[in-house]
Amino acid sequence: MIEGESFYYRCIDCGREYRIEPDLMLCPECSRRQGSDKPLRGVLEVVIARPTGGDVYSLLPVEREYFPSIPVGNTPMWRPLRVRAKYGFEKLYLKDDTLNPTGSFKDRASYLVAAFAKKYGFKSITVASTGNAASSMAGVGAAAGIRVKIFIPSSAPRAKMVQSYQYGAEVTLVEGTYDEAFDESIRYTRVHGGLNRNTAYNPMTIEGKKTVSIEIFNQLGYAPDYIFVPVGDGVILSGVYKGFKDLMKSGFIGRMPVIYGVQAEGSSAICRALKAGDFGKPVVARTVADSISVEIPRGGYYALKALKEFNGRCITVSDDEILGAQRELASLSGLFAEPASAAAYAGFLKVTGNLGVVEREEGSFLRGKSGGGGIKASDTVVVLLTGSGLKDIDAAARGVGIKI
Ligand SMILES: *Cc1c(COP(=O)(O)O)cnc(C)c1O
Repeated sequence: MIEGESFYYRCIDCGREYRIEPDLMLCPECSRRQGSDKPLRGVLEVVIARPTGGDVYSLLPVEREYFPSIPVGNTPMWRPLRVRAKYGFEKLYLKDDTLNPTGSFKDRASYLVAAFAKKYGFKSITVASTGNAASSMAGVGAAAGIRVKIFIPSSAPRAKMVQSYQYGAEVTLVEGTYDEAFDESIRYTRVHGGLNRNTAYNPMTIEGKKTVSIEIFNQLGYAPDYIFVPVGDGVILSGVYKGFKDLMKSGFIGRMPVIYGVQAEGSSAICRALKAGDFGKPVVARTVADSISVEIPRGGYYALKALKEFNGRCITVSDDEILGAQRELASLSGLFAEPASAAAYAGFLKVTGNLGVVEREEGSFLRGKSGGGGIKASDTVVVLLTGSGLKDIDAAARGVGIKI
């Protein structure tokens, strides 16, 4: 408890508490123990000192006046009737974050980071990204009038790159992986100053992403039983947990939903850690779902801790399963999601024992099954769709077997 503050930071590793300061990103004590090739040590969680109302802004640590004028969040919850009919889940919902201004969930974090930058007078923001965080920060930064410098792998999908240039960001293409871009951007901020928005590193990223849980609660009027979340660095997962934790603390909900983290088989550091108890050596990441292609999940410790504490689950899906799920979701609901976000839908199909039903029984509805994975037909299930299919049309073309 920090005297006189409505919001403050608590280190997720040692529990030390700190006043929110513009230049404080990680716990100074724990970040000194940072192991190479490990998730970030000393990640800071925002703590709400006093329970507040359930509206989104009252639960955020930056005042409303600092947010840029771009309509982030308040995304729709779809009732996908044909998917419901096919598999027998009466209360299946799709939380459609592809409809954020820059086409991805990342806008939730960028929005709060931009407000934070405005409040503390930062003129520039730097970020490393597989593509979506970069294009998101570029777009939200444009609305806020903040200079944005981004580091993305030269292999990033072209749409995400072009978007970033369109929004006027300064782009550095890194000949290497996202993990290398991450390190390069931290070095850049150390030398040139400005605010760094790297995921998990900047505490406002987890905090901004929590808004999705508050919206889901407000849209349903209750907390769902299950949520499927795609996982790369683990910060969306952490944010989803953080939102429900704040709702519990404020007395709005009595229990935590069961959260399924879904990873690609070729990029599954968090699933492996949940099984093994801790993070091992990084494994080269390879998946069609570029947004969740991560070797060192920077937000890994928060995600792992939350999964353990709240009995969450983690599952993996193959690239073929992801592309099949992407196509099925689009053709059965009208929601066209990029591979990383279709992974969440593939995870839902897999857990409920419905993967492959697509292929075998095309066109025949009411043949799928509910009940798999302990999920009942009457349970409320939310699948979080995090990025638009237009973000990576090359992968989408592959999924429908055409050459473009
Ligand atoms: C970033 C991203 C994810 C994964 O989020 P993490 O915080 O890295 O786990 C999933 N889907 C899309 C579309 C993303 O851009």
